[in-house]
Amino acid sequence: MIEQYGWSDPLGQAFAPYARAGQTPGRILVQQRGAYLVASDDGELRAKPSGRLLHQAREAGHPAVGDWVALTVNRAEATATIHAVLPRRTAFVRRAADSLQTPQVVAANIDVAFVVTSMNADLNPRRIERYLAAAWQSGARPVVVLTKADLCAEPEVQAAQIAAVAAGCPVLVVSARQGLGMDLLLAQVGPGETCVLIGSSGVGKSTLVNALSGAERMATQEIREADARGRHTTSHRELVPLPGGGLILDTPGMRELGLIDADDGLGVVFDDIERLAEDCRFNDCGHGGEPGCAVRGALESGDLDAGRWEHFQKLGREVAAVDRKEDRAAKDAERRRLIALQKTHRSSKKVRRDD
Ligand code: GDP
Ligand code: ZN
Repeated sequence: MIEQYGWSDPLGQAFAPYARAGQTPGRILVQQRGAYLVASDDGELRAKPSGRLLHQAREAGHPAVGDWVALTVNRAEATATIHAVLPRRTAFVRRAADSLQTPQVVAANIDVAFVVTSMNADLNPRRIERYLAAAWQSGARPVVVLTKADLCAEPEVQAAQIAAVAAGCPVLVVSARQGLGMDLLLAQVGPGETCVLIGSSGVGKSTLVNALSGAERMATQEIREADARGRHTTSHRELVPLPGGGLILDTPGMRELGLIDADDGLGVVFDDIERLAEDCRFNDCGHGGEPGCAVRGALESGDLDAGRWEHFQKLGREVAAVDRKEDRAAKDAERRRLIALQKTHRSSKKVRRDD
């Protein structure tokens, strides 16, 4: 049962101390007002955090959908108590406007973040950049998905435009309406891996979730079941298995991530890097080998991940480049560049998908 939800050997090792304490592993399918639905080897269980975990949650935050947890199980009632949350590999975090508040984890242990934008929307590089950065920040692998290909005569041209701001991420072209490219999406999510869709409202995320996870989810979504005490609780699942052994996580909180203004730019999602740079000796430090560079220092000590730094730089450059293209002449030149790029993109697509 839990293998279906992505249980793995490393998780088993992390769980060993809890297993010795007689606890059972589970993964959170739904969170609803302090109560949870958890998948376990004893089936789906309604679970509540222990008093101790609730107390810790004041500082560490609450368990979230996608979390792996340690449970004690009441089999007769199909209920459980959550005692601990296993370390998260990745997390999407919503930061409250008041940054002193505990950051709230919206979704945990996500491997792939599909950044969804649609063919009929205006190309908004800043918005794509923002979603890409949010994906990168979470620790998940970003993959750009261009939806509604059926509405576009030359989807490849748009794909090339987006590839130009996507800093090396794969760019997939799909149409849920025509059932086009669904296999490409599924191929990005390995067995036991979990994906999410992020992107602005109306780009086709719900349609894609339904197309990917099948009609089953739709049918179960609104069903209400009585629990052991006869009360009614919603029983939809926000973590759903996909064909091919992957999972899709679709929780309302992820949609709200999209409400943050794209114009906040890189600083908000890469604020750790911005803060680091404030510690550089020189105000105008280019982080290229200047003495007293805090960014270089963090890279050398491993406090700053090299891939993350590279991505930050790439995104910064590309966004700045797009911002500069205000006048018409520059736009014409850009169009010619994109057509050339489109040719390269076409011939190198197979290679790109693997990097
Ligand atoms: P969300 O807000 O991102 O979840 O977007 P929805 O999935 O609700 O889709 C928004 C609108 O786009 C709906 O009217 C869908 O029918 C439409 N839509 C979704 N996918 C496609 C597609 O592949 N082709 C076309 N033409 N329309 C689509
Ligand atoms: Zn520096």
